[in-house]
Order: sequence, then C-alpha cells, then structure tokens
Amino acid sequence: MSNFLVEAVENRELSMCYQPIMDISSGTIKGIEALMRWNNSILGEVRPDKFISVAEKTGLIYKIGEWGFREVCKQIKVLNMTGIHGIQISVNVSIKQLEKEGFAESCIQIADEYGVSPASIEIEITESVSMGNVDQIVRNLKALKLKGFTVAMDDFGTGFSSLGQLDLFELDKLKIDKIFIDGLESDFRKQNLVKAIIAMAGSLNLSVVAEGIEDEGQLSFLKSFGCDLGQGYLFSKPLRKEKLEDFILKYCSQ
Ligand code: C2E
Ligand code: MG
Ligand code: MG
Repeated sequence: MSNFLVEAVENRELSMCYQPIMDISSGTIKGIEALMRWNNSILGEVRPDKFISVAEKTGLIYKIGEWGFREVCKQIKVLNMTGIHGIQISVNVSIKQLEKEGFAESCIQIADEYGVSPASIEIEITESVSMGNVDQIVRNLKALKLKGFTVAMDDFGTGFSSLGQLDLFELDKLKIDKIFIDGLESDFRKQNLVKAIIAMAGSLNLSVVAEGIEDEGQLSFLKSFGCDLGQGYLFSKPLRKEKLEDFILKYCSQ
C-alpha cells in the first residue's frame, strides 16, 4: 500500500469529501468536516482508517496532510466566492503532523496563500495526542489558536482521556464518538455518559458535536440532553465537493 501511496498525490488519486455538521436545535448547517478519500487504480477505494496509519508509519502523512489542508483552503475560498461565509471546515490532523516543528507556521502560511481566514478552519485532534510529544503539540496548537484557528477533540471518550488535557490543549469543541451514540435509545448507561459529557463540556465552555447520528431516536435523545451539534448519516453522508454548495444553501440559516 505504501508503494502506491507514494504516488497518490502526483497521480491525483486523493480527494476530499465534506460531511455537514448541523445545529441540533435549529436544523441549520454550522460546519463541515473534510474527510479524505483515496481511489487507486489497482487497490480501488481505500478507507482513510487504513491508509492514514500507513501514511503515518512511512512519513507520507506530511505530504498527504499538506495536500488535504490545501484542498480545504481551496474549498473555503470557493464557498466564500459564492457568498457563503461563517461555515467552518474541520480538518483531521495526525499526531505526527502536530509533533512536527513548524506545522503551525505551515498551516498559517497556506491559509494566507489562499486568502482564507484561520477562523474558518477547525483542527481536529484525537486523544492520542496525550501520548505524543505533548510540549511540541501544545506549541503548535497555541500558535494556531493565536491566529484564530479553533481546535476540536475528535472521537472523545474512546482513547486515553485525561481531563487535564482538555485544558492543556485549549480546546473549543468535543466530538462525542459514534460508539456512545450507537444504541443510545435503549442503553441507559450510554444516556447517562452522554449527558455527563455534555454537562462537563458546558461547564468548560466547550461546544459538543455528537458523531454518527443515524436515526431520529438518537437525535431526540441528544436534543433533550441539550447537545449543540450533530453529524451523521441522518443529516447527510460525506458529500463530494460538487454537492456541497447545494446542501449548504438548503440548510443555512440566512
Ligand atoms: P473521524 O474524523 O471520526 O470521521 C468520522 C467518520 O465517521 C468518517 O469516516 C465518516 O464518514 C463516518 N461517519 C459519519 N457519520 C456516520 C454515520 O452516521 N454512520 C457511520 N457508520 N459512519 C459515519 P471516514 O471518512 O471513513 O474516516 C475515518 C477516519 O479516518 C476519520 O474519523 C479520521 O480519523 C480519519 N481521516 C479521514 N480523513 C482524514 C484526513 O484528511 N487526515 C487524517 N489525519 N485523518 C483522516
Ligand atoms: Mg474527525
Ligand atoms: Mg470522530
């Protein structure tokens, strides 16, 4: 896989899909998560769960990550040009990228190159950051936050969570992992956990996204718990960039 991945950027085999993040109480679109896709002529469609870890092991993540970040900046520019402002795009960032000196400066420079405001980009990190070079990661995140990027903790509750780190990484948002949303209607313990996460996030001034919402039952529980934002197939699957504008226009609040 790594042999094919080396050429993926040059061969234009990568693309980005965009999944809407919705305001649960109003049903309007509040954000978009960029999700990478790889289509290779021999391997076919390879899921990011598979190829991102290969990219991390081989060091290709830096090149692929930069490609993805540029793609997101281009997309924000396209949206701005069609009069769409104020909808953030989130980018998933690997711990390897965050551990690299100069990562923040490179993001700042690329956003500037495309004339995109850092405030329109959210960086999604995962709980694995607490197992990495925390000093360097915090330096990068601080530099990004200073310019106006926001930071979200992805897959919250699945990894090595340390509550102290919510503060250390200066988060703006928590994304509750899909495993807590699956079967929410019939699982009393999950309901209590999700309620507790939402209450904790509220008292820390963090907004909350529930990931992987697939049905109305889950949504009505999340609504009654006061969850701010939701993402999942119930609202929309990840969309090709050509379909994004239509979705936004249909679900934006203006
Ligand atoms: P993630 O960041 O937690 O993204 C959410 C994943 O859940 C996506 O899978 C999305 O398609 C899927 N999903 C969203 N709603 C639903 C739902 O209602 N039901 C179900 N069954 N699935 C749903 P995807 O696109 O396969 O991405 C998997 C993971 O790969 C991502 O998880 C993220 O950790 C990583 N990834 C994706 N793109 C990138 C990227 O550009 N860079 C990095 N470093 N990682 C990426
Ligand atoms: Mg994510
Ligand atoms: Mg997630």
